[in-house]
Amino acid sequence: MRKPLIAGNWKMNMTATETEDFIDQLLTNKLPDDVEAAVCGPFTSLTILSDRAKDSGLKIGAQNVYFEEKGAFTGEVSAAMLKDINMTYVITGHSERREIFGETDSDVNKKNKAVLSVGMIPIVCVGETDEERTAGKHEEKVQQQVTSALQGLKEDDVKELVIAYEPIWAIGTGKSASSDDANAMCEIIRDTVLNLYNQATAENVRILYGGSVKPATIEDLMSKEHVDGALVGGASLKVDDYLQLLAGA
Ligand code: PEP
Repeated sequence: MRKPLIAGNWKMNMTATETEDFIDQLLTNKLPDDVEAAVCGPFTSLTILSDRAKDSGLKIGAQNVYFEEKGAFTGEVSAAMLKDINMTYVITGHSERREIFGETDSDVNKKNKAVLSVGMIPIVCVGETDEERTAGKHEEKVQQQVTSALQGLKEDDVKELVIAYEPIWAIGTGKSASSDDANAMCEIIRDTVLNLYNQATAENVRILYGGSVKPATIEDLMSKEHVDGALVGGASLKVDDYLQLLAGA
């Protein structure tokens, strides 16, 4: 059984003070046992989150990492540094990093290896543009991104992986994919893992949908066979919305 995961992606939001307020308010509530809750904050929030979330069941993740171990890479943060402050997850391959910061499929693959090498779990983002969908190239694009992201990864690591299907046209736009379309793409991702590895691995890997998920849409999404949760930007920034997402998952 795959445990549902609701992962918040705060992007470049939340100061340290706002983070303290959020986590203190969130943790006055009991988090559900049957859904995994995770928050991926900006680097400046991570220690606060991991310290305060200790023993609460809430998992904490980073939104980026650099793949080299250490050295002259000004401004970068390594996987070992994130592991040392008890990160569970690291988002890799988010479309904003690919589009704004020029990250390539090869970078994403190297980041996945770095994250796994220290015992954290990548949340690997893939998804097509509006033009690619209109041209009927969305399936091919996502298969290619998944194949590249997983290149050289061991079966045992892939089993624990999280992959997020995030159509770029749905991110932050208020225009979500239908739950049927999301399910169809998540199934394609699972089939890609099946072809690259085997049935046990494909059945274990968790596949999330991301793109304008809201409390009002989570239940329908979660009723779909291949959707194991959601990666949520905007709606993860308010405690009430986040709690409703967890309740609906
Ligand atoms: C995201 O940034 O991963 C995302 C899905 O954002 P939003 O929920 O705001 O569309």
